Amino acid sequence: MSALTRRSFLAASAGAAATLAGPAVAAAPEAEMQGPGVYRYKLGDYQLTALYDGTWFLPIDDKFVHNASGAQVDEALSDAFLPPKMLPISFTALLVNTGSKLVLIDTGTAGQITDTAGVMLDNLKVAGVAPADIDTILISHFHPDHIDGIKTKDGDKVFPNAEIKVPEPEWAFWMDDANMGRYAGAAAVHKYFLNARRIFSDIAGEVHRFKPGAEVAPGIMSIPAFGHTPGHTAFSVHSGNQSLLVMSDTVREPWLLVRHPQWQPSYDMDGPMAAKARTQMLDRAASDRMLVEAYHFPFPACGHIVKSGSGYELAPAMWAPL
Ligand SMILES: [Zn+2]
Repeated sequence: MSALTRRSFLAASAGAAATLAGPAVAAAPEAEMQGPGVYRYKLGDYQLTALYDGTWFLPIDDKFVHNASGAQVDEALSDAFLPPKMLPISFTALLVNTGSKLVLIDTGTAGQITDTAGVMLDNLKVAGVAPADIDTILISHFHPDHIDGIKTKDGDKVFPNAEIKVPEPEWAFWMDDANMGRYAGAAAVHKYFLNARRIFSDIAGEVHRFKPGAEVAPGIMSIPAFGHTPGHTAFSVHSGNQSLLVMSDTVREPWLLVRHPQWQPSYDMDGPMAAKARTQMLDRAASDRMLVEAYHFPFPACGHIVKSGSGYELAPAMWAPL
């Protein structure tokens, strides 16, 4: 049998295209949107559902990573077959069904960050869950892409029956007026303070604040992972003899920060502390062979971490039947 050369592959493809290009194919209208982003998987007795919210294509400049050049960042993007100077930021919330409780970890962008994201509620509906069914919302940190889904643009609560639980140090930092004053000259961060007030001020009495390290729902532990923000928190979910590490924003884009955990991107408020938390978490995930999930990983945002050279690689979970 002859080896498949590039030329013979292209010739075969052209032939196949010619065969397929009948009127029936040409008449089908091109779809204008992606299919639903819902992916279910098991963890012990729990059922987990990844709920895609969308992707933000964020232009970045040469100063995006403090301790790597723009050329190095572009090379890392190119190694992942991505265009330079553009960061695709994917958003995926995680629903945990413990059998008795429905727990939502982070809440999506609610269409308030970019018009290419904001479909988490549509996907929740496809998953057969109404917002009123959610018992508990766990928040990792107060960046808008994680808390905006709590309210509509008009300020109405989206999950009327959910108890909202947030990390105490995150609340203490963002809801403090003196801290907000200190960031008055930093427009981007100052906006986050105002947004945290928009979401939480009028429901402050209902928001439960937990100390990172505490159990926050049946089988769900919070894990302090400070650095990305002052109170940034990860979680671990345990059922039967299985565990999932919910890394939140400790580890974001795999092609940048799984491969280069020491890099300090400008979105980490304390670069060295975030890099330390990231390296420790990736090391634990790799050595314990843990299933991991991260809010900004490509959908369905779960897989395993493998040690590789001076960094790590994401081995993505394979789409599988239940
Ligand atoms: Zn985020």
